[in-house]
Amino acid sequence: MSEFDLIVGQDKALTILNAFLGNATIPHALVFSGLEGTGKMAAAKAFAMACNCSAAQTGDDSLDAHAPPGKVALPACGRCRPCKKIKSANHPDILHLKPAGDTIKVKQIRDLLDTMALKPFEAQTRVVILEDAQTLNPSAGNALLKALEEPPADTLFILTTGELSDLMPTIVSRCQHVRFRPLAQAVVTEALATTKGIPAADAALAARLSGGSLARAEHLAAADWMHYRRWLLEQTAALTTATPGMLLALAAVIAVRKNRIPDTLAILKSWFRDLLVFKQAPDKLINRDMQALVQQAARKETAESLLKKINALDTVSRRFTGSANIRLCLETLLLKLART
Ligand SMILES: [Zn+2]
Repeated sequence: MSEFDLIVGQDKALTILNAFLGNATIPHALVFSGLEGTGKMAAAKAFAMACNCSAAQTGDDSLDAHAPPGKVALPACGRCRPCKKIKSANHPDILHLKPAGDTIKVKQIRDLLDTMALKPFEAQTRVVILEDAQTLNPSAGNALLKALEEPPADTLFILTTGELSDLMPTIVSRCQHVRFRPLAQAVVTEALATTKGIPAADAALAARLSGGSLARAEHLAAADWMHYRRWLLEQTAALTTATPGMLLALAAVIAVRKNRIPDTLAILKSWFRDLLVFKQAPDKLINRDMQALVQQAARKETAESLLKKINALDTVSRRFTGSANIRLCLETLLLKLART
């Protein structure tokens, strides 16, 4: 999975972070919440840079010109030694923890606490980034809580998570919260077109499907994925007349793209959502390029049946962890989606 090293469309979050830096009231712990691909990790890195940038510490005025006109940026030069080291993930005092497998384990937190017992090697502010902190298992969470209760000097924790409610309330209560909102479609479209060179029509379609996540939009805009989406939706349009054997075969094909199941579910959801909105607002379609097929398929459904199908998709999306029996799960789902 590629990491989009961009923070776009998050002026509100960056303004809050800038205020911490400007008032020199940097909290001991921050939580960045928001969808994957909305800039949380990039912002965590940029904030670590701003806390340690040599130019920022000498009050270099040129930093103010760093942000493009009309945009908010964090005050880090990106060129000094600390900035470069943090950018390339080579700074000894910027500690980055992420799940080992499905969870962040207590051993990882204990190792972290041991490292933190030492003085920082060279940083002004040591920054500990805990990526996907919702995966902290309970004992790891409790070990971390001790550190948050008695924060070491000159150390900043940044936790990232999807939803704030996925974290232990005792952890949340010790952190300042910064929310990263889903990105506007126009922001995603522009970022894909300008930084990835994706044709405008594909970029716009991927943006509509992405739910405001740049990372997801990037996957969806890839040429092979565009092709897959069209194929998948053509099969989906024909589900109501498919034989049970065809449904099982389709589940098997989808299950092969295991690490892209969330994207597949998003595409399926966009389809049934389109069938639902088509009668009222045909101009609001996500899958505009397939309007004729949407129109045809919409005739076979009632609002009630569509809502049931969208619900079934939501349930699978929420429960999907990557470790469940994917194929069986998809088979059951497709049987529900094929019902009229
Ligand atoms: Zn710098």
